[in-house]
Amino acid sequence: AKEQGRNRLCFFTHDLNRQAVARLDIEVALSQALDRGELRLHYQPKVGAASGRVMGAEALLRWQRGADLVPPGLFVPIAEQSSLILEIGAWVIDQACAQLARWRADGLAMPRIAVNVAARQFAAGDLDRVVGQALRRHGVPPACLELEVTESMLIDRPGEGVDMLRRLKDLGVKLSLDDFGTGYSSLAYLRQFPIDALKVDKSFVDHIGIGPDGSAIVDAVISLAHRLGLAVVAEGVETPAQQAHLRAQGCDELQGYGLARPMPADAFEAWCAGREVA
Ligand code: C2E
Ligand code: CA
Ligand code: CA
Ligand code: CA
Repeated sequence: AKEQGRNRLCFFTHDLNRQAVARLDIEVALSQALDRGELRLHYQPKVGAASGRVMGAEALLRWQRGADLVPPGLFVPIAEQSSLILEIGAWVIDQACAQLARWRADGLAMPRIAVNVAARQFAAGDLDRVVGQALRRHGVPPACLELEVTESMLIDRPGEGVDMLRRLKDLGVKLSLDDFGTGYSSLAYLRQFPIDALKVDKSFVDHIGIGPDGSAIVDAVISLAHRLGLAVVAEGVETPAQQAHLRAQGCDELQGYGLARPMPADAFEAWCAGREVA
């Protein structure tokens, strides 16, 4: 039995080693990817639930690694463990501002682009400076940029978190709380955060129409958000039934494969061409 235990431990450490090596591999390749211009932003529309108008887009990171388009789930968590995410995150913010400026110059008046912010970027303490620089460099109105932050990055150090949110708010950018309801669910903090919108997590949208209480949480979040003067965006909207339900509940904006998948900038422009942009 002892022998067996040692073998298992051996396998275990061997496995950990392999994981560490794989991680390092990705880290090295990723830092080169940034220099080589292999990172891309795809854009997924946010659509007015009542109006059907294009209200903006969420920028989602992709890594064009040779013929493969690597989704962020495979490399963002690794980048987030090192300061690499600071470089990548600043690149994302700069690219989003550059895209806004290009669209405005081409006569496509996109109201907003939202970018995701990692906990480490938020904790670094200079996010307001990074954002301000990008806005000035590209001459973009601050209200056109939206930052999606998560509850967990605020709950760790609520004082500093709220302080940074205020500084970003003072710049004039829009703030939304992403994946709402999945983290440390901080109803008590919600009123202290100077945010503009809540994004209801896909996991709650998924339950709409399933069982008698399927939509209970979504419905409650929409009404809570409105009571607090916040807009509500539903993410991961896939079916017509979900759309109809969210519209009836007064949800403000919809995002999901049922409306459109994330796509490269040129495809997004083509998608907008046949539609009203708010
Ligand atoms: P997220 O912020 O919750 O983004 C929504 C994710 O759900 C995206 O996956 C999007 O493609 C996917 N999605 C949207 N609609 C639907 C739907 O109807 N059905 C399904 N099944 N999925 C849908 P993606 O692009 O793979 O991004 C995954 C996560 O990676 C994001 O989750 C976000 O946390 C992170 N991420 C993406 N881009 C960035 C970035 O630039 N910086 C940071 N720090 N994180 C990023
Ligand atoms: Ca997001
Ligand atoms: Ca989300
Ligand atoms: Ca989510």
